[in-house]
Amino acid sequence: MSRTAAIALALMSCAAACALARPCRVEVPPQAFDAGGWALDSQFMDTIGSPCLLAHGLGVRVMDAKARIDVPSAGRWRVWVRAKNWADGAPGRFRVLVDRRPLAKVFGEGSRDWTWEDGGEVELPAGTVEVALCDMTGFDGRCAGLVLAVPGEPEPKGALSPKSLPISDTHDFDFVVTGGGMSGVAAALAAARAGLKTAIVQDRPVLGGNASAEIRVWCAGEARHPLIRELRGKFMNRDAMASYGDRVRDRICADEPNLSVFRSHRAFGVEKAENGSIAAVVALDLSRNAAVRFRAPLFCDATGDGWVGYWAGADFRMGREAKSEYDESMAPDKADSDTLGASLMWTSRDANTAVPFSAPWAEPHAQGVTAVNGEWNWEYGIHQDMIKEAETIRDRLFLAIYGAFSLAKKNPDNACRVLEFCPYLLGKRESRRLLGDWVLSEKDITGKNLFPDAIATGSWSVDLHYDDYTNGVDFLTTCRQPHYGRFWIPYRSLYSRNVQNLFMAGRCFSATHVGLGAPRVMNTLAQTGLAVGEAAALCRKYSCLPRAIFSAGHVRELQRRIGGDWPGNPDPSKADWRYVDDETAGVSFGSGWRHGFCCCGEQFGDKASFASHTSAPAVYPLPVEKAGRYRLHAIVPYFWEATRYGTTAYEISSGGEVKEFSSRIGIRMGEWKELGEFDLEPGAVLRVIPGKSTGRVIADGFAVSPVR
Ligand SMILES: Cc1cc2nc3c(=O)[nH]c(=O)nc-3n(C[C@H](O)[C@H](O)[C@H](O)COP(=O)(O)OP(=O)(O)OC[C@H]3O[C@@H](n4cnc5c(N)ncnc54)[C@H](O)[C@@H]3O)c2cc1C
Repeated sequence: MSRTAAIALALMSCAAACALARPCRVEVPPQAFDAGGWALDSQFMDTIGSPCLLAHGLGVRVMDAKARIDVPSAGRWRVWVRAKNWADGAPGRFRVLVDRRPLAKVFGEGSRDWTWEDGGEVELPAGTVEVALCDMTGFDGRCAGLVLAVPGEPEPKGALSPKSLPISDTHDFDFVVTGGGMSGVAAALAAARAGLKTAIVQDRPVLGGNASAEIRVWCAGEARHPLIRELRGKFMNRDAMASYGDRVRDRICADEPNLSVFRSHRAFGVEKAENGSIAAVVALDLSRNAAVRFRAPLFCDATGDGWVGYWAGADFRMGREAKSEYDESMAPDKADSDTLGASLMWTSRDANTAVPFSAPWAEPHAQGVTAVNGEWNWEYGIHQDMIKEAETIRDRLFLAIYGAFSLAKKNPDNACRVLEFCPYLLGKRESRRLLGDWVLSEKDITGKNLFPDAIATGSWSVDLHYDDYTNGVDFLTTCRQPHYGRFWIPYRSLYSRNVQNLFMAGRCFSATHVGLGAPRVMNTLAQTGLAVGEAAALCRKYSCLPRAIFSAGHVRELQRRIGGDWPGNPDPSKADWRYVDDETAGVSFGSGWRHGFCCCGEQFGDKASFASHTSAPAVYPLPVEKAGRYRLHAIVPYFWEATRYGTTAYEISSGGEVKEFSSRIGIRMGEWKELGEFDLEPGAVLRVIPGKSTGRVIADGFAVSPVR
């Protein structure tokens, strides 16, 4: 459906409603505009009631947004614009042009809530007329729709909700994943590769969620599976190269014949079957202003905010549990509604000429902080409601950033500094957590619970954030990050306990606030997606619902499909491997080695060991039971990307012979790499020799396997 046709549809339904011979209202929702330089922002659709257009120009006025509308009859029409004055000083002002003539009224300087602002009357001809939103400031003016009404008609009430749109298309799939962050993409790809006709319903034009170039968070945690290594972002926080990851994800998804990606589709509800399960997810196609229905027997909620579960009536929890509930030492004594906060990680750079920037209205909100960049700890909303107050949280961060940068620009050293990137999409860490048959909690992490249904692993710290108000600044936080080494996530925390055909993947999976603290990094969460996708394939194979994968004994098969070692279910392809870790008894390190958790993961066991070039050798007795020819394998953690640039020197002593060799071991971090074939006898010893190595020297796990 074309944009004009969609508007005409709105017009006709309105005409019917007012039961007059002459249609009395023309509704122009934000998604009916060609956005120009405005962003079409749907992240707060469920609280604003509709998407909105946002003039996010970082202080530079953005190009007009325009829509062409059909005016049913010539005459006088009153113009209503849904706008909001988002901050003191009315920084988000804009004008509206109707039929190329500006209205006298300036919008965005009235009420602090979303309101239909009266733009006065205009004389219009019948037929197609252009309306345009003309940004005046570049500072986040916003518009959630425009209505033309016959004079005397009542003021519009509420949002131009997509809920009033008729369903224009119905799609049938085997599996529908809502939310295209790392977890959702992993779930959808795994299911599609397992043969399920799969859809991703994603509200953004790109995939990746927080990892995308729109938000630019670095993908950390254990990737474990090749699919996640394919998908993960490879650049650090705020790096513009995150867009490379977006392109890779696009390509991988486009190459998968069983997968359909519905970009710019914001889900806004579900349809339920009589038995309470989900029959369909309903979404607004933002590019066509059309409502679309996605039917399937199985669904996955990977929205981060648990929207699908929420609409379906799934049990969920938001906020912090009391210490007593799950016996969590890191939980507060009393339950409360705090969550981890949300961030906009921003950057500036030097231009080759002086560039003005002034936001005096924002400066008080910087609370004395002067800055030209902001990292993860520019975080707000810990004590707010991450769903209901999300727009306010985002705006509060805008004010802090614009204010701090405006103050920094007063310093002549920063004259050429230009605000380069500040997301308008709120980077969220936590909101609703949907409850499954198991709720992952602190003790599962600290006690390394060896779940029989483990389907994912992590080794990130329990990374909890707290406000830092003691410094007198309310938008900066601190964190505590105790490490406990490798932990496991059970399958039972990936499906809803009361909506029978709903999986969840990503940060809305079943965990306590503290329990989420460790698995909440994106590679680890993508593992939950992968497991859900594989489980969906098993549900089809056995004609069963998600719970039965556990209760009917299919978990071993699920683990085998994912691959690798699981508690009580070691990898059969490595049945004849014998391992030695840096923590194994008998392994010794000379002076100068350090040992530590690598929270970014993929080390063998809980720790890795690293040396400088002056360190003495490390000695690993090799687990050789009888003389023969063996392959020697090694692994080092992903985090030590720097090993790629170095060569590690080794020496093997066996049966009185000494053999030296070297390897660029870091080329495939986090994966076992074969170092070569050797004739070994019981008592063989491997030495890692920092003095002869170049680059970073890491010693972690080694293995031998017999050559057959
Ligand atoms: C500032 C910051 C720093 C962080 N640091 C790190 C770090 O260093 N490393 C790390 O790995 N993790 C980090 N995290 C945590 C990590 O980014 C999140 O836990 C992670 O993004 C969760 O992944 P997800 O797939 O569950 O959700 P998301 O990445 O949020 O993806 C969810 C997707 O669903 C879409 N969506 C939401 N609602 C709808 C709907 N109704 N219809 C359609 N689509 C919808 C969203 O647009 C989004 O694309 C950080 C987070 C923040 C905010």
